Amino acid sequence: MEVAVFGAGIAGLMTAIALRRNGHNCRIFERSRQAHEAGMGFILVPEGIARMEAMGVQLKGVPLERFFYRNSSGEILHDQQMPVGARSIRRRDLSTSLLEALPNGTTITFDAELDRLEFDRQGRVTHAVLSSGESVRADLYVSADGSRSRARHMLFPGWSAPLARVPELVGLVRCLQTLRWAGHDFNKFHSESGGVALGVLRVDEEHVVWYLQFDSKRFPLLPAAMVSDGIAAAQARRSFATQLVGDWAAPIPHLLEGTDFTRVHHWQPVDADLIPRFHQENLVLVGDAAHPLSPFTSQGVSSAIADATTLATEIETDCTVEELPQALDRYSVTRRAQCAPYVTKGRTLMQNFLQPLAREERALLPIA
Ligand SMILES: Cc1cc2nc3c(=O)[nH]c(=O)nc-3n(C[C@H](O)[C@H](O)[C@H](O)COP(=O)(O)OP(=O)(O)OC[C@H]3O[C@@H](n4cnc5c(N)ncnc54)[C@H](O)[C@@H]3O)c2cc1C
Repeated sequence: MEVAVFGAGIAGLMTAIALRRNGHNCRIFERSRQAHEAGMGFILVPEGIARMEAMGVQLKGVPLERFFYRNSSGEILHDQQMPVGARSIRRRDLSTSLLEALPNGTTITFDAELDRLEFDRQGRVTHAVLSSGESVRADLYVSADGSRSRARHMLFPGWSAPLARVPELVGLVRCLQTLRWAGHDFNKFHSESGGVALGVLRVDEEHVVWYLQFDSKRFPLLPAAMVSDGIAAAQARRSFATQLVGDWAAPIPHLLEGTDFTRVHHWQPVDADLIPRFHQENLVLVGDAAHPLSPFTSQGVSSAIADATTLATEIETDCTVEELPQALDRYSVTRRAQCAPYVTKGRTLMQNFLQPLAREERALLPIA
């Protein structure tokens, strides 16, 4: 079968790996050459790692052992074993591992942005149109174009996907002292009154990632800090982060000082219900395009991986074009059911985050 995949993020690359292993011919179209290098890092849960390794992906990253829930003075209020096998990884390293695992015969075209899909009366995609005007024809169209997916918008134009109340500033720092301090643990500091937290994770032998989550209603970011680039945005982000958490326990002040804020990313997740289905005829959605999940669940990457491998289970080597709608329906039913609890859990974790600091035992680990 001829497959066109739009987006070479984690979901798009993994889908191409999994479908190619079933003998399908995959062409990937990616809007931006820089997307592969961009981003900081994430937590991988054991199921996601197992699925990737089973597809021949060789992963880097740092094993994670314990989660420490701290107050802003650094006092540990709770600690918990991480799921056995969990690890943190730089986004760039994960992208590279997936690119290296792409089987021969898979092509990637960069600077190729999906502009729109054209449908016939039955709702089948007849062809995709890139921003350059070029047409792409395939038997199966895979939308892996992230949380602001054009394909999802075309299928469900009225579907509400507002920005989540809790955005993040995310930074990557090269700092041996913090590396030693972080070790193999995931530390998260929380303000007493709720609504602000800072997580710290080592992602390789040299770097730690920090991410600052904040209640945008109580602590709105100045417009200057929201523009995507530039010195003024960097200064505004530094002063925002310093005001919020600059006097918190070590290593936070030192981490902020050592951060190049021109590279700090302002991440704005969306808070959406699940769309009614992840497919239509010969079009299927995977990863954030299908289900943008709350960062509180740490499930973005692992769910994208699960989408890809579930899709490959349904579209076997001998699957015909006529059988595609049923196969995609099975994929959609399975994955919707598996993702639904993450939507609920993400909202619960966000509500917990907005409350004053938890001193009683409850589910605090930010993993669903
Ligand atoms: C640049 C970037 C940095 C990120 N950094 C982090 C991070 O540090 N930590 C974290 O937890 N999560 C991060 N994420 C989100 C995380 O990668 C996803 O939540 C998760 O991996 C699911 O992956 P995905 O492939 O579905 O979506 P994404 O990773 O968002 O990938 C979507 C891909 O599609 C491409 N694309 C978008 N629109 C089009 C179009 N119209 N035509 C063609 N291609 C298109 C994008 O350039 C991107 O490469 C980042 C995402 C991006 C795009």
